[in-house]
Amino acid sequence: MDNFDPRKISEISEKDVEGAIRPQEFSEFSGQDKILQNLKIFVKAAKLRGESLDHVLLHGPPGLGKTTLANIIANELGVNLKITSGPVLDKPGDLAGILTSLETGDVLFIDEIHRLQPIVEEYLYSAMEDFKIDIMIDKGPGARSVQIALNPFTLVGATTRSGLLTSPLRARFGIKCQLEYYDSIILQKIILRSASILNIKAEKEAALEIAVRSRGTPRIANALLRRVRDFAQVEGNGNIDIDITRYALDALNIDKKGLDMMDNKILTTIIDKFNGGPTGLNTIATAVGEDAGTIEEVYEPYLIKEGFLQRTPRGREVTSLAYSHLGRTRNKPVEETLF
Ligand code: ADP
Repeated sequence: MDNFDPRKISEISEKDVEGAIRPQEFSEFSGQDKILQNLKIFVKAAKLRGESLDHVLLHGPPGLGKTTLANIIANELGVNLKITSGPVLDKPGDLAGILTSLETGDVLFIDEIHRLQPIVEEYLYSAMEDFKIDIMIDKGPGARSVQIALNPFTLVGATTRSGLLTSPLRARFGIKCQLEYYDSIILQKIILRSASILNIKAEKEAALEIAVRSRGTPRIANALLRRVRDFAQVEGNGNIDIDITRYALDALNIDKKGLDMMDNKILTTIIDKFNGGPTGLNTIATAVGEDAGTIEEVYEPYLIKEGFLQRTPRGREVTSLAYSHLGRTRNKPVEETLF
């Protein structure tokens, strides 16, 4: 069987159950305690004052709950949520159409906000700051620009690549949240919650086993739960216990530490081609055939958090843990790295 990459699960199958298991209010959202604590206060304060919530920037790797938080913010504020994404907004007119349709206090969620066209981004500035936009009426010599007042709204922007956000745009967000990977205990809780909503019988120990292998990411945890359920139904008695879970995860080639194919490719490349490093980010990116920014902002944070990789002034270096995880031996003395 090919290596299973839970991130590549088709959006259709994801969407089938996503609506049911996506937390709808703060009380259903586990983890990210600091962010939640603050958001609760900001939402409450905005409601008390009868004002729209300040614009919110959510930053973090895919699948950690940015869209979910945007949903929750809108629900808790009791307003409508409109969802779009950076690459979809081709020209200022697309954005103008959405902005003028917002009611007072509504939340506009722009996913992948770092991928906005510069011309659309500039257009967003006055909308965010003064709730006004200029639109062009007529073409040719008669063309003139008219200013339109918008209803006050909250922009929730999500990005996996905050490094690509321009400073004028970043500065216009009053609330900035950096989402972190989840620890296994929280993921276990998320898996048990999803299992109960989907009417799946899952043992706690089995949920923890899935959690450990979910790369700190709720989306992967939920996807693995559904795949393990398939195995439990076809090859077991329908219940998710530890034995069927281990069997399923092994059959799916899910790494014991939850690392996916690209994670492992990055580590083996540094070991095999660069003697464990240190080596530069761009060199690694070329060698593994992935965008340097994506490696830096999507893959590296988890590898660093789990202690497989370190960033040194001379480049990226794999750790002894990476060698033992991949069953390799180091053929040079371990160097102490000074930060
Ligand atoms: P992102 O927008 O960051 O890529 P999503 O918000 O779409 O991620 O979350 C992916 C999936 O994980 C959703 O289906 C959601 O149900 C689940 N999820 C994310 N964060 C949490 C959480 N803290 N608690 C429970 N489920 C979560």
